[in-house]
Amino acid sequence: MSSTDCLFCRIVAGEIPATIVRSDERTVAFRDVGPQAPVHVLVVPREHIFSLETSSDDQGDLLGALMLAARDVARQEGLAEDGYRAVLNVGADGGQTVPHLHVHVLGGRSMDWPPG
Ligand code: AMP
Repeated sequence: MSSTDCLFCRIVAGEIPATIVRSDERTVAFRDVGPQAPVHVLVVPREHIFSLETSSDDQGDLLGALMLAARDVARQEGLAEDGYRAVLNVGADGGQTVPHLHVHVLGGRSMDWPPG
């Protein structure tokens, strides 16, 4: 898939509207359109990476930046004290529906385990 066909690349490029809550050189975070918790933010790399599975060893810095951005989103959204969930769905069995790597930051309610 080219980045012009990718929904999240188009959000990153500003071609599709989204509620952006944080951005930096390497990542963008925006509210999920179908929130599964009072706070539900997606954090994505600006660079198109299909999934964690297709990431490469030389993308470790970017993956680290993505996790730190997720942490900062959680802090910014007031979730740090009570806790939250940071989720990566990977591939079909993982429930991934959008083929651009993203971290779900979910919070504002107590989470169940195990996930469905
Ligand atoms: P996943 O199923 O892990 O691939 O997550 C994809 C997420 O993207 C879902 O939670 C969707 O609700 C969300 N989503 C789909 N389209 C949009 C959009 N245009 N803006 C924001 N979130 C979206």
